Amino acid sequence: IVDEGDVDKWHKSVCRYCGTGCGVMLGMSKENQLVRVRGDQEAHNKGVICIKGSTLSNLMKQEDRRIKYPMIRKNGKLERATWDEALSLMADKFKEALAENGPESVGYYGSGQLLIEESYTANKLFKAGFKSNNVDGNPRLCMASAAVGYTQTFGKDEPPGCYEDMDHADCFFLIGSNTYEGHPPLWERIMIRKKSHPNTKIIVVDPRYTKTAEKADIHLPVVPGTDMLLLNSMMYCFIEQDLCDTDFISKNVTFNDGKSAVDFEKFKLFLEDYKPEKVADELGLTPRQIRTAAYWFGASKATMSMWTMGINQRAQGVFLNNNLNSMHLLTGQINRPGATPLSLTGQSNACGGVRDTGSLSHLLPNGRLVANPTHRAEMEKLWKVPAGTINPKPGYHALAMFQAMVDEKLKACLIMCTNPAQSLPNNDHYREGMKKSFLAVADIFETETTKFADVVLPAALYIEKEGVYGQTERRYQIIEKLVDPVGEAKSDLEILVEFAKKMGQDKLITAHTSEEVWEEYRELSSHSKYNFKGITRERLKKERGIQWPCPDENHPGTKRRYTKGDPFVPEGKDHYFYGKPDGKAVVFLRPYKRVKEVTSTTKPLYLTTGRVVSQWHTGTMTGGIKELNIQSGGGRFIMHPEDARRLKLKKGDLASVQSTYGTITGHVDISENETPGVVFASFYDPKFLVNKIVNDDYDPISKEPVYKVTAVNVSKATSL
Ligand code: SF4
Repeated sequence: IVDEGDVDKWHKSVCRYCGTGCGVMLGMSKENQLVRVRGDQEAHNKGVICIKGSTLSNLMKQEDRRIKYPMIRKNGKLERATWDEALSLMADKFKEALAENGPESVGYYGSGQLLIEESYTANKLFKAGFKSNNVDGNPRLCMASAAVGYTQTFGKDEPPGCYEDMDHADCFFLIGSNTYEGHPPLWERIMIRKKSHPNTKIIVVDPRYTKTAEKADIHLPVVPGTDMLLLNSMMYCFIEQDLCDTDFISKNVTFNDGKSAVDFEKFKLFLEDYKPEKVADELGLTPRQIRTAAYWFGASKATMSMWTMGINQRAQGVFLNNNLNSMHLLTGQINRPGATPLSLTGQSNACGGVRDTGSLSHLLPNGRLVANPTHRAEMEKLWKVPAGTINPKPGYHALAMFQAMVDEKLKACLIMCTNPAQSLPNNDHYREGMKKSFLAVADIFETETTKFADVVLPAALYIEKEGVYGQTERRYQIIEKLVDPVGEAKSDLEILVEFAKKMGQDKLITAHTSEEVWEEYRELSSHSKYNFKGITRERLKKERGIQWPCPDENHPGTKRRYTKGDPFVPEGKDHYFYGKPDGKAVVFLRPYKRVKEVTSTTKPLYLTTGRVVSQWHTGTMTGGIKELNIQSGGGRFIMHPEDARRLKLKKGDLASVQSTYGTITGHVDISENETPGVVFASFYDPKFLVNKIVNDDYDPISKEPVYKVTAVNVSKATSL
């Protein structure tokens, strides 16, 4: 970061990294280099950005690390190739797989960091062009449970509320989110609210005593894997403490036991098993703690829940999401300023780029399902392909896709903008599959995954291309192209368009520029309740993002869904959950199920993984930035002093950590902030591949893996 004096012109943009989607101002020098970054005061984040965002200019200065030209693996080594050679080889392999083994033998594994136009095009190419629903990607690993949770409860994916609700909430229920490190500007906003309204309560549920928990009014350090018990118990307390909004419930809510509709009385009966006295021991809490949290949640003027991977990456991830939504419905803490559930997104464009465009194996654009004949027919008409083109069977979800490589069923796969060889759980197992399948990998830097690639394609980075990101609160924001790509790099959209041509799909993929794709997709959205027809390119360039639904160009966008201001709520209605045929949201009866990974005498500790504030995901982008590396240090196991003492480990010692899935050795760090019995590790460091030992069980509904709970044994080691 250099002095502002070097800035010739400022441009509004969006941070490249996380799902907070902060507006940034990019200062370009006379030489057209990104030399300075600051938060955009006019954007939703009001000028606040985190350490990662503040080093975006350093990200663009890593030309020496970039992949600059296409490469083909020959005799085990990647060798420089022309674009034509690389794309021709790719097309040959995909055509061969399609001809010999059919559409199920090819796949696309994408990313919540691609632009909307890129994910949309990949999805269309594979589902309508190759008739393969094997379209999935890393959002499956982080947001799938939230997406299914919303869809089951409200009938539509994506959150009802918005960030502005933080300025009105009197109670924050933060569960499975270390907001301080994961979403720093949002944490800052909570702190501002707390400072101006000191009676605001902050409830933090987390097995770890995180930086977020430090500021809580009540921290509930639940035993890993038990928090379904807590949510059901809090709902028991809502009834016990007369905190249910019976008027709201009678008009807007139905109850369902997962098979059929039931009545409120049956729901009450179901909750009897979750009386605080019955569950407190297993949770590791006291009944009083549970009742206090329930009272604050239910009795506050406005309660906002926020959660992320600690809830989504769980064997009962969907049920947990259902329960969080249900808690708001029962207490009427929804559809007004400050009162809302709001799942926080990990990646910059997981919401807009993947969930909204339907770029997962069971989805089609704008909330449609491949298994639904009406939805398929609608999409076939909109995509102008013959009836019966789209396969009715969902394709492989993320882990199934790599398992299909292990089983030699998936013969050719295009991986874009993501690093599964570092991010998948039970990593060594799925790496075996990557060795067997033909892999084309498009990325900006070499990664653990490019080590397995047969073809590597140089991708454009950030402001080397133009397109739209959609962040957590349904806000679409544009990133404009400010510099040319390095070397021979191309945007992922250009790569897809050229690949489509080589595959003979040029009649299907007719939108070639980012703007052309946006126009096609914007028009298409108007046939759904994800309508953003009113979000034109021109508006995106002028305004600081617009929240959909936004049906026409005069519409200001929708802050809060399912209430007044939402264009789909009928006149005269205060609330209307239009995703459901009867306009009513659903409270499900969701029983707690003990996790598979429980500690034992041979594996007496829980391993849980997460993020640190100064690194992003697998460190592909942030790992080359000195300032961030100084702050984060290297990957390591962090444990409570009590555990370290028992295991005779000191800070800096080497320890072997063993799970059912493997063993890795790494350095030990010790912190009072960790909970006894829980070892924490972050996954950003490619030299410390913690995901090799992480549980690859997954939620049976969302298919999102269970990263958060793995039983392990820890012992002293002498060498790496
Ligand atoms: Fe970027 Fe996320 Fe940091 Fe905002 S919080 S500056 S979007 S990394």
